Amino acid sequence: MNEYDSNRIYDLLSTVGYSKTEEKKDADCFLLNTCHIREKATEKVYDEVGRIKKDFKNLNKPLVIIAGCVAQAESKEMLNREPYIDMVIGPQSYHKIVDLILISERKKIKITETEFDVIKKFDELKNISSKQNKISSYITIQEGCDKFCHFCVVPYTRGPEYSRPFDQIILEANSLIKNGAKEIILLGQNVNDYNFSNNKTKYKLSSIIKELNEIKNLKRIRFMTSHPKDMTEDLINCYKSCDKLMPFLHLPIQSGSNKILKLMNRKHDIKYYLTIIDKLKTINKNIGISSDFILGYPGETESDFNDTIDLIKKIGFINSYSFIFSPRPGTPAALKKSNKIDVSRKRLKKLQLVLENIQRENNKKYMGQTCEVLVENKLNNQEKYFGRTKYMIPVIFDADNCKPGELLNIKITSFNRNNLFGSYKFNKLKVA
Ligand code: SAM
Ligand code: SF4
Repeated sequence: MNEYDSNRIYDLLSTVGYSKTEEKKDADCFLLNTCHIREKATEKVYDEVGRIKKDFKNLNKPLVIIAGCVAQAESKEMLNREPYIDMVIGPQSYHKIVDLILISERKKIKITETEFDVIKKFDELKNISSKQNKISSYITIQEGCDKFCHFCVVPYTRGPEYSRPFDQIILEANSLIKNGAKEIILLGQNVNDYNFSNNKTKYKLSSIIKELNEIKNLKRIRFMTSHPKDMTEDLINCYKSCDKLMPFLHLPIQSGSNKILKLMNRKHDIKYYLTIIDKLKTINKNIGISSDFILGYPGETESDFNDTIDLIKKIGFINSYSFIFSPRPGTPAALKKSNKIDVSRKRLKKLQLVLENIQRENNKKYMGQTCEVLVENKLNNQEKYFGRTKYMIPVIFDADNCKPGELLNIKITSFNRNNLFGSYKFNKLKVA
């Protein structure tokens, strides 16, 4: 979502003449779009500002803006801790950025803007055309969260759940497709809780997927991140009725222990999660599932951890993210007694090894097979192309001639844990 927000901030800034520079020292303005989900991210922001300060020691000071969730959470505190920062803008106020820069430069003042103004934000953004021209493009359709998992800052930094108007989303999708997008990834902190009603109709995530599925020049549809509780029948059925919806779902479970799920306030248990997986596999037995895991959550015992390992082996998640619990200020879990860090590190390492083995075994299955790849770009300085399978697995391949945006059948000749490698020469057939 931060990538989407950064693109939209760039769209706003380019209306007043800003352009991107690759040369750090050419910059008049640095904008750090930040994430507050784990502690490390916050410290990285201050480290980066420190580097800018050093690089510009004997040069004119650039404007330094901190956007995103660290800005929202820390607000004025950031200006106090690091006076080199000029402006702090929360994720629901960045539509005001151009005016704020003008005010700050004219009045020579520092600014913090952290209001939750999400309706106004998207209302204003709809008038700014998107410069995003990637084969695989993001659209934020939903923001914020009302679920309040005990470890998570999102409800505090992104605010309450908000779903964008249906027509606004379809317009944005069409504009991205006009710019060359062949894949749309619908984004939200709880993307599958998307809910928008006008006088006549109630729209859900399935309504958006069905509408996008009819767009001729679009080839693939994905969505993330979903909460297990909101995997409704209409959405599950899209995996049957919408051929452009990719058979790969990121469905975080966080832990394999019911006790820990309860302590996390996750609002679902293992049995329920397994029912969802069963329903998905009944619709399409080839659906791949990935997840997020938190290790060392307060109260997690060795037996809870082993339950998580068992669950991973049972489901065979093909690609997942795992993190050591990071206490976030203001969340209920931050008040609980933390597990010993060396125990959590050991558990993380063990769990990642299990996930990696499954990932490697899964990639091995493609050896000698052809698989459908959406070509995204040619790799820099190489005669090789980059694309992704239906399951998001990166594929690096040789081809005499191919164009970004094409769907090709690639013959897989080798693999490692993260990537598949192959060639297009062996098979000249394009996918219809
Ligand atoms: N809404 C999604 C869900 O409910 O599954 C997750 C969105 S959250 C922004 C992304 C991931 O960050 C979570 O699934 C969780 O694994 C991880 N995360 C969030 N807070 C965390 C914390 N305090 N410590 C460690 N990991 C955390
Ligand atoms: Fe955070 Fe997801 Fe829980 Fe919401 S549902 S509080 S975004 S982890």
